[in-house]
Amino acid sequence: MRAAVVRERSGPFRVEELADPTAKEGEILVQVAATGVCHTDLHIHDGSVAFPFPCVLGHEMSGTVLEVGAGVEHVRPGQRVVGAFIMPCGRCALCRAGRSELCEEFFAKNRLSGTLYDGTTRLFDADGEPVWMYSMAAMAERCVMPALAAAPLDDRLPLVDSAILGCALLTAYGAAHTVAGVAPGATVAVLGTGGVGSSLVQVCRALGAERVVAVDLDDAKLAAARRLGATDGIDASAGDPVARLRELTDGAGVDVVFEAIGRPQTFRQATEMCADGGAAVMVGIAPTGMVGEVEITRLVRRKLRLLGSFGARPQEALPALMAMAADGRIDLAATVSEHHRLDDVDEAFARLRRGEVVGRAVVEMDRAAAR
Ligand SMILES: [Zn+2]
Ligand SMILES: [Zn+2]
Repeated sequence: MRAAVVRERSGPFRVEELADPTAKEGEILVQVAATGVCHTDLHIHDGSVAFPFPCVLGHEMSGTVLEVGAGVEHVRPGQRVVGAFIMPCGRCALCRAGRSELCEEFFAKNRLSGTLYDGTTRLFDADGEPVWMYSMAAMAERCVMPALAAAPLDDRLPLVDSAILGCALLTAYGAAHTVAGVAPGATVAVLGTGGVGSSLVQVCRALGAERVVAVDLDDAKLAAARRLGATDGIDASAGDPVARLRELTDGAGVDVVFEAIGRPQTFRQATEMCADGGAAVMVGIAPTGMVGEVEITRLVRRKLRLLGSFGARPQEALPALMAMAADGRIDLAATVSEHHRLDDVDEAFARLRRGEVVGRAVVEMDRAAAR
């Protein structure tokens, strides 16, 4: 099969021929239709988050099941599925406690070592050398993942654009529904309206938020956020966004602020935009070791809640997101702003790195060059 392999830190994404992978016990093999182009892949690519090379990135995808390993029951060959970047093992203490988004095996084996849960990779290059897997390594024509990462795709949804359910929207659902508990009538702000931020706008609206304030430096992204349901937009390059948000809300602030950037300045701004008793939910990933500040007395006196959120439980979040998309509360087609082909992965990531992707780019594995 063909796959986009990165051989060294900041090296090119080069399409290579790898051996066809197979699924082991508890895993599925999927023919990949499309894979989302996500910022987190860039952190691996540039080495700001440690990960072994050579590797295949790509951690949110859609496709058709080719093969299931022993013990897999909830999906079958021929079925269309979406795969989430969090791949629960189903057996560790946290999975058994219902906290599969914190799966110990996922973090220890996949995120640190680039393997699945028997401690080996499913990918080997033309010389038989191992190639490491970031999540299911979906920037390839085929991929293998633990079955609990995948859910059958709702018949009403399109195969290609549904690829983005597995990271941006999964992350938004975990943050807005599970961690923040956004309820009908809530007021929220979203700092950073890229892939995850624009998904947060949609999921918060889908959960009934009455007011969703998008904050970004980029006018095109703010306009896109409004099209996806943001009720207000703040251009953070035009003055202090905290003061502007206070003005918009008659001084009160909002119930929940989502920080989807991962920078110290916006981390602090998120805590300053909260209403009394409100929550700042941190979703943006920062380079290892980066620290954020919060004003202590404000945190204490205003009873702010400072929460971290990472991903969501795939078996709960994927069906919930599909229901939102099927009844039109989430618009997948409007979120996916670019379609690329496998041979153009390097350019797709370059565009993301330069901040040129408004919304979400996906790579279609069988997209023809002429299209
Ligand atoms: Zn991602
Ligand atoms: Zn687990």
